[in-house]
Amino acid sequence: TLDLNSISKSFGTAKVLHDISLAINDKEFVVFVGPSGCGKSTLLRIIAGLEEATSGQIIIGGEDVSAAHPVERGISMVFQSYALYPHLSVYENIAFPLRVQKLEKADMDARVHRAAEVLQLTDKLQLKPGQLSGGQRQRVAIGRSIVRNPKVFLFDEPLSNLDAALRGDMRVELSQLHKSLDATMVYVTHDQIEAMTMADRIVVLNGGRVEQFGTPMELYHHPKTKFVASFIGQPN
Ligand code: ATP
Ligand code: MG
Repeated sequence: TLDLNSISKSFGTAKVLHDISLAINDKEFVVFVGPSGCGKSTLLRIIAGLEEATSGQIIIGGEDVSAAHPVERGISMVFQSYALYPHLSVYENIAFPLRVQKLEKADMDARVHRAAEVLQLTDKLQLKPGQLSGGQRQRVAIGRSIVRNPKVFLFDEPLSNLDAALRGDMRVELSQLHKSLDATMVYVTHDQIEAMTMADRIVVLNGGRVEQFGTPMELYHHPKTKFVASFIGQPN
């Protein structure tokens, strides 16, 4: 499990996360939704270890990782803007995180090919990012995460730069990816359709507080607050 234990965060005098406690199950696909500025990215960065909580703990598999270095947490984060290296091939872009780990060539090769297979990039490995579509580029960025075999994937609005059709395709692909990998996924989006179709459970955040945590159907049929009802009910 991934346990968030009373996470609070302040930037100076501004408190942006208020005492957030959530228990996310292994292999669960949890989607965070909420208005701009409600603290979604900040919370994800705290889970990843890129930002320190003001108080509270991050517990993974019963172990407190709050003080652990990002790469030691078994977590991988995929951002909205995916900076690929334009002069490197798809293969080299995916293999990049493994280069610093000094893995053996055969091991690296196997991991890159497995990621490429899952993401349907096997025939693109020798191309450069500039020769790919937007969705394929996004998949390369995800491939970079997969090769590290993380237990937990964090996605911060990974599809927001894609057009509507590609977004639809990628939603399906990410759901399939979730099924084929043995990993927990925590996914931030503005998009209610993404939340409703991809999530096992949805967390609705508002002003740095959890309004509700439940399945899409629970939120839809039994919203606890007016905010949840309006947020899940109407697309923005
Ligand atoms: P969006 O949907 O627009 O991406 P978000 O829910 O991801 O919004 P955050 O980026 O987590 O929101 O920001 C939450 C609040 O914390 C905002 O009010 C933001 O201004 C503030 N904030 C975030 N990072 C910092 C920082 N490094 N210093 C000061 N304030 C910050
Ligand atoms: Mg954000």
